[in-house]
Amino acid sequence: MTARILVVDDVPANVKLLEARLVAEYFDVLTAPDGNAALATCEKTPVDLVLLDVMMPGMDGFEVCERLKANSRTAHIPVVMITALDQPSDRVRGLKAGADDFLTKPVNDLQLMSRVKSLVRLKNVSDELRLRAQTAQTIGLQETGRVDRPDEPGSVLLVDGRASSQERLTRALKPIADVAVISDPQAALFEAAESSFDLIIVNANFDDYDPLRLCSQLRSLERTRFIPILLVTEQGNDERIVRALELGVTDYIMRPVDPNELVARSLTQIRRKHCNDRLRASVQQTIELAVTDDLTGLHNRRYLESHLKLLIDRATTRGRPLSICITDIDRFKRVNDTYGHDAGDDVLREFANRVRATVRGADLACRFGGEEFVVVMPDTTPEMAAIVAERLRLAVESRGFDIPQAATVLNVTASLGIATLRPDGDTAEALLKRADMALYQAKNGGRNRVVAAAA
Ligand code: GH3
Ligand code: MG
Ligand code: MG
Repeated sequence: MTARILVVDDVPANVKLLEARLVAEYFDVLTAPDGNAALATCEKTPVDLVLLDVMMPGMDGFEVCERLKANSRTAHIPVVMITALDQPSDRVRGLKAGADDFLTKPVNDLQLMSRVKSLVRLKNVSDELRLRAQTAQTIGLQETGRVDRPDEPGSVLLVDGRASSQERLTRALKPIADVAVISDPQAALFEAAESSFDLIIVNANFDDYDPLRLCSQLRSLERTRFIPILLVTEQGNDERIVRALELGVTDYIMRPVDPNELVARSLTQIRRKHCNDRLRASVQQTIELAVTDDLTGLHNRRYLESHLKLLIDRATTRGRPLSICITDIDRFKRVNDTYGHDAGDDVLREFANRVRATVRGADLACRFGGEEFVVVMPDTTPEMAAIVAERLRLAVESRGFDIPQAATVLNVTASLGIATLRPDGDTAEALLKRADMALYQAKNGGRNRVVAAAA
């Protein structure tokens, strides 16, 4: 993992010390002697993480952090504050300023490396998401995803073996989240996978259960791997914390738990989760839009062309049949000419519905273009394909199509061409071509019929 880290401290010896340790781990290190220099560096160069001294003459670390977080160009950079005194009040003040974590001087090597690595890893994930969401915006598929939304209430799962601490932590979190409490860590895993939580707080206080086991299981389950985990743990157990962070625990808090710090850390995690959820949803929507036909909601030609290749590969390696059917509405131009383009669109939508209703779930139905549709049927012999195509032809012919604009019902027919994959070295292009030739014959033969390509 390579990342660029900015070390900010007014004491040159401190800078040198941190720089040497980070360089030894192959990080790319920049330095700044004061707040203004730090802000300027973050503005003009991409920085992956800031290690920020709190006590500096002039602008102190809290203010630097606030300014970084208030600027949309630098708000996403994780900040680790370095305090001289391990004061809970300083920690809370820093978290309110937007800091992602704390280290206390003298900086412990294990904690330094594990915090830096896990924050850089988190940043890589959000950078990737941000980039994809940006692409979505650029191609105009997506309205701008604003990051500075008001906080929505979070939903938190608290896994805690003791009634007394359950009660205390729940009370502290009440103003910012809905809290579900569970005492049994194995039951917690199921609960987490079933519901959708924004944060899981694991209190490491079980009598005979290793809480890191739950953390690692939460990380490996598809349904829970993006949910942040906050571990509540004993003081002075650095190795364990490092191990937890390596396993993917997102943050930790030491006992005795300061309620303000708990709230601040939980809020940070919930906000980040909400933000990443939005980005992820926007990426997902982009992918769906890119492969979906707007008018009918079927897959589009782009999707068909790439997916058909995969389906053909699979059929070939498994020695299974595969057939396709191309269907084209007969005399469709007349519908547009007589009733208008909108009426034509209505017919296309209804036609797509009938295609959808006729084919099996495993079949791939696409709008190939204009008034042409393709259905790919895996595991389907020519005989079966002929039956499906005939069923589709009938589904179109047997019932009229509503044209509300003209208050009329229209009789529509379609012609269909089918073709089946040849066992030796057939391609998607060749297969589509044969189906298209069969369709052409169906049109020439008088329309409203099915023709199969020669095997
Ligand atoms: P044939 O029986 O030979 O297939 O005759 P046809 O009129 O259906 O074929 P032709 O290819 O001549 O015309 C297709 C028409 O489909 C022309 C075009 O304007 C129309 N069309 C293509 N896409 C759309 C669309 O998205 N909406 C509407 N309303 N019409 C479309
Ligand atoms: Mg047509
Ligand atoms: Mg056509």
